[in-house]
Amino acid sequence: MPTPPVVVHSRHYECDIGPHVFPVLKYGLVLRRLIDEGAIVASNVLEPEMPSQETLALVHTPGYLEDLEQLRHGPRTWVSELPLTREIVTAYALAAGGTTLAARSALELGTAVHLGGGFHHAFADHAEGFCYVNDLAIAIRVAQREGLIRRAAVVDLDVHQGNGTADIFQGDESVFTLSIHQEANYPVPKARSDLDVGLDDGVSDAEYLDVLDRVLERVWAARPELVLYQAGADPYRDDQLGGLSLTVDGLEARDRRVLDGCAQRGIPSVVTLGGGYARRVEDTVEIHTRTARIAIGRSAGKEARA
Ligand SMILES: [Zn+2]
Repeated sequence: MPTPPVVVHSRHYECDIGPHVFPVLKYGLVLRRLIDEGAIVASNVLEPEMPSQETLALVHTPGYLEDLEQLRHGPRTWVSELPLTREIVTAYALAAGGTTLAARSALELGTAVHLGGGFHHAFADHAEGFCYVNDLAIAIRVAQREGLIRRAAVVDLDVHQGNGTADIFQGDESVFTLSIHQEANYPVPKARSDLDVGLDDGVSDAEYLDVLDRVLERVWAARPELVLYQAGADPYRDDQLGGLSLTVDGLEARDRRVLDGCAQRGIPSVVTLGGGYARRVEDTVEIHTRTARIAIGRSAGKEARA
């Protein structure tokens, strides 16, 4: 019997961050779209659990976790471009639980979608950008600690470099980090991923997909047992924080390259949403929805293992 597609979501992701370029509403809007069009049913949406402090400490330093716990402003938290409130810290910690849950599901069923996460600017010891907790790194560390996998890869296709993730896994041969991003954009300076591709401004679909095809070969060569896909919607040509020129169709083709590539090789894959700041929020929702649909199509077609 085909298994229901695994989608992870929490309404707590729509936390109050004040007037902000980050549209937290997108999480609920993507979920609504998927339910309305019949891609998923509401009862099959999984709720993440809050990770323990011990789990968060697999990636983050005690001092930083204490700052988050105490909502303490200081050098480890003030680089964040978000307010520091209990509600927001809870939402970010919960998102780490969400990516971890999606990773467990993907290891069982092949693919899972987290309608959240991808907070790749969070470092082990400090916040950055719109990121407090690095959900990608935590999911990998949990899966490794439980002996579910040895090697993993992060395919980060957000328009901004995944500097926190790159730094966390720097020198760790068990995790291959790829980031394709716009070179002349945040963050400055950049961290070092195992493979960084810094694109020129204005790169369009054909050029992007050509680069992607070539560099994905390096990901497959690393023989990951799990791929975490940061499917940022911000390489879109009408993004307020991006300077690339991909179309909605180009981004869908990008997603297929990654997710089909994983499926063809039998590598479990997890989608996380990452950034997306299109002038029209509907565009961001459309891009994320298409990404989710591709992954859902994959997991729905997979037979359950007894
Ligand atoms: Zn971004």
